Amino acid sequence: MNNDELLRRDLAVLWHPCTQMKDHESLPLIPIRRGEGVWLEDFDGNRYLDAISSWWVNLFGHANPSINQAIRDQLERLEHVILAGFGHQPAIELAERLVALTPQPLTRCFYTDNGSSAVEVALKMSFHYWRNHGQPRRTRFISLSGSYHGETLGALAVGDVALYKETYGPLLLEPIIVPSPDAWNREPGERAADVAERRFAAMEAALEQHSGEVCAVIVEPLVQCAGGMRMYDPVYLTRLREACDRHNVHLIADEIAVGFGRTGTLFACEQAGISPDFLCLSKGLTGGYLPLAAVLTSDDVYRAFYDDYTTLRAFLHSHSYTGNPLGCAAALATLDLFEQQPVLERNRQLAAHMGRAFAHLADHPHVGEVRQTGMILAAEMVRDKASREPYPWQERRGLTVYRHALERGALLRPLGNVVYLMPPYVITEAQIDRLAEVASAGITRATTD
Ligand SMILES: *Cc1c(COP(=O)(O)O)cnc(C)c1O
Repeated sequence: MNNDELLRRDLAVLWHPCTQMKDHESLPLIPIRRGEGVWLEDFDGNRYLDAISSWWVNLFGHANPSINQAIRDQLERLEHVILAGFGHQPAIELAERLVALTPQPLTRCFYTDNGSSAVEVALKMSFHYWRNHGQPRRTRFISLSGSYHGETLGALAVGDVALYKETYGPLLLEPIIVPSPDAWNREPGERAADVAERRFAAMEAALEQHSGEVCAVIVEPLVQCAGGMRMYDPVYLTRLREACDRHNVHLIADEIAVGFGRTGTLFACEQAGISPDFLCLSKGLTGGYLPLAAVLTSDDVYRAFYDDYTTLRAFLHSHSYTGNPLGCAAALATLDLFEQQPVLERNRQLAAHMGRAFAHLADHPHVGEVRQTGMILAAEMVRDKASREPYPWQERRGLTVYRHALERGALLRPLGNVVYLMPPYVITEAQIDRLAEVASAGITRATTD
């Protein structure tokens, strides 16, 4: 079996995610035979350094021995069981550990199958909470410009990335979108914290104006990932928590991408010293192995649903694979690695090295900014450095970087004009240096007309 044969069979039957399939008339699809650590290997024996953790899910490398073993062990005992009316040890233990790891008031764990469905659950639970409290007029959600919360209709609706959302507009509920505190929008002389403070005024105004009709505010703490790895100061979250309390609305923290150490702390909310009313987790939860997600919430929320069956106050939401034991076992093995190894401390060193290795790119004539939060680093390509005028999306400059990297054995998958690194935590400093070289040369190639 080789790449060509598999590629032919693949294109005959598969419809790939987030892909204009016609692109594959000229862009080779890469069938992967095996993975190990940061490496992916195709059927012709080419290797690719997975600099984006396979869509931000992988934490401790591909084929991690201890996670592999945990899944094998679980497989011998129980592959799956209905979670309504029944339970199992991995689901219980994982919920206990997540409750212990997350900030104080979060005491309940509801499982779903992926990030989008976790967001759906948080939205539905918040709405339903207010309804159970005799406030059915609360039907709206506030979110930030440039945010991303998934692709199912509810999650898509509260996001704001036009590329994914615009087409489906007629199908979607309408959120109240307020300007993001994204530090990219700073005025000359302004710091990230100043942008956050300035932009918070719009959030405050929206909460004021829509008082009594809002269920919750939903945000991606610190980094708006799919929106282009845009970053903001934690002070925004501190202000937001205080304002949500004052206006009596829920705060939903979508840490699906930034949870589990990505931003430098185990959860991004910690950097603002806050706790949300709903915390959505997925992606890194299973170390990048299996689809599993969790929504953590408070006892206050839980109690609003706890009543006699006939009052119809229960949360009757379910997914077939809710709390899958194999997924929970992978998650437990992932949490073990956080416990056994100084992961966050090692990440601080790796992050510092990433910063040093990519610093020179800030001087590139077509890089508007190099920004970083923990283990996420991004370089944004611009047509004009002074005005930060972007390249038109139709030019697909990022695709040139993608191709360039593949030819040099790296998987970089820019988001439009934004080239970024979000590597597995087992990457080495030498591998980071190599990625910096590949990314720099790729950016130069993509921006030389
Ligand atoms: C990826 C992502 C989601 C959606 O998760 P899926 O598992 O892809 O459905 C939601 N929110 C954020 C912030 C994400 O990055």
